[in-house]
Order: sequence, then C-alpha cells, then structure tokens
Amino acid sequence: MPDILYFNGRFTTTDERVLGVEDRGFQFGDGVYEVFKFLGRRPAFLADHFRRMQRGLAELEIRSPWDEARFTSAMRELVERTAFDDGIVYLQVTRGEAERSHFWPDAIEPTVVAYSRAFQFPGPAKKERGIKVITTSDHRWHFCNVKSLNLLGNAMAKKQAQRAGADEAILLGEGFVREGASSSFFAVKNGGIVTHPLDERILPGVVRDRVIGLALGAKIRVDERPLREAELFDLDEAFITSTTQGVMPVSEIDGRVIGNSRRGEVTTTLQSRFDQLELREAGV
Ligand code: PLP
Repeated sequence: MPDILYFNGRFTTTDERVLGVEDRGFQFGDGVYEVFKFLGRRPAFLADHFRRMQRGLAELEIRSPWDEARFTSAMRELVERTAFDDGIVYLQVTRGEAERSHFWPDAIEPTVVAYSRAFQFPGPAKKERGIKVITTSDHRWHFCNVKSLNLLGNAMAKKQAQRAGADEAILLGEGFVREGASSSFFAVKNGGIVTHPLDERILPGVVRDRVIGLALGAKIRVDERPLREAELFDLDEAFITSTTQGVMPVSEIDGRVIGNSRRGEVTTTLQSRFDQLELREAGV
C-alpha cells in the first residue's frame, strides 16, 4: 500500500513520481533530512526536529520553506492522514531543482518531501537483549552536525556492520569514539555516562539531548568528552540512542562482551525514563 506523501505544500501518495531528475538532492546530496516518530498518530519531539532542521538549512544556506507553525500543522496533518497509528515520518528538504551545475541559482525554490512509514520499533525482548556493534573508521565529511543527505559514509559503515552480523557501526576518528552510523553512542563507567561533546564531528541527536537531561534529573553523572578507543573495552555498560531505537543497550563491541552482557542498571533506568518521556511528549 502506498504511504501518504507531502510534496511542496500538497498531499498525495508515494505512488506519484514527484521529483525532477535535476533536483539538487539527487544530483549533489544538497539538502537536509529528519526522521521523527509518531505514536497513536501523534508526533514525538516535533519541535526538536524542527529546530535541528532549521539550523542545518541555515548552515547550508538553503532557504527554509516554512516557519514552525506551518511545519507543525503540515506534519500533524500528514500523520493524521496516515492509515496506521505508529510509525515514522521521513522528511527531506533539498535546495531545489535547477539545471545541473555546481553553482546554484540565487532564485531557487527548496523542494520538500515528507512521507509516513510503518516501522517495527524494538519490542521488550530486544530492548533488554540489546545489540551487537562493530567499530570502524569515520569516513564522513566535516559537517556531521548537519543532518545532510550525504549518507554514503554512514551507509558503507552500516553495511559493514551487517556483514559482520552486527546491528550498528560505531565510528572512530583520531583515536576517539564519535557516534554510531545512525545513532548517538554512550558509555557507562562507574555509574556515570560519557558521550562525545557537541561539535562538527557528531550529529546533535534529539534522543541524545533528552537522555542527557534525564540523566541529570536522575543524578547520574554526565561527562561530555570524547572517549578514547582504548576505553571502549573497559566499560561497565554501553548504549546507543536514536529516534527509531530509543535507548538501546549494546551487548558486544567487536565480539567482546560489555559488562556482564545483560542490560545494565544505568541503561535500564534511562531507557525506561526515556520511554515514558516519549509517550508524554507525544501526548498519548
Ligand atoms: N547520529 C547519526 C549519524 C544519526 O544518523 C542519527 C539518527 O539517524 C543519530 C545520531 C540519532 O539522532 P536522533 O536521536 O535525533 O534520532
């Protein structure tokens, strides 16, 4: 069944071929994207996703196609039109369509595409068992703080993880742990959490930010510093965070068991607090 598609201000379905071949998103990866979750047909953390997208558009000098009120009403309507209750919306804003040239014309209209998708969110068993990850070099570009369409480095790393029988690749650079190919990474040591500070080497994850807030509220120590590669194998617990995975324990890194291989205490606390926050935020 086709999904509901929002395209440049109107609603259609994913059956309709809407994009031109000279759209700069296709030609140059010239744009940004967001993924947000909805539960009971209600978006979660929509304002956080909007703010991050606006920052990314400004960094890339792409004109924003909407203000927050128009964005919110369009996304709420998209979710209300969707045939299922829970899922994700994939949203992309590109610089627009123009005759292919590295130089873009000043008068170019951004392209907006958003569609809903059913999504199998992790159930209780997986959330307890956690995932296996591998480590690999970070080959991405220099502005990883922008959620840009340039995901080749991420996709290559992710495929490498899949081939190794793992779920996620943790990206390493200059001797330090950065983040997952599609998630933020947290280490747990001596009851506190450690995660990479916000800079151009990592994406400012919506869930990352909320989990840090929850940790502080729970009097869990938060250390935003780059973790050395060598520290990876001396952790009490580890977890990743993302919109689709929430707080997900890491059970193994490169085949080595983390902690006692079971979901640890800090991870369990933050996972359950985040799940509650997400429901509250969505208003279900
Ligand atoms: N880091 C990267 C590279 C990602 O692609 C993602 C999500 O897709 C995240 C972190 C997590 O971000 P969020 O919590 O906003 O989903």
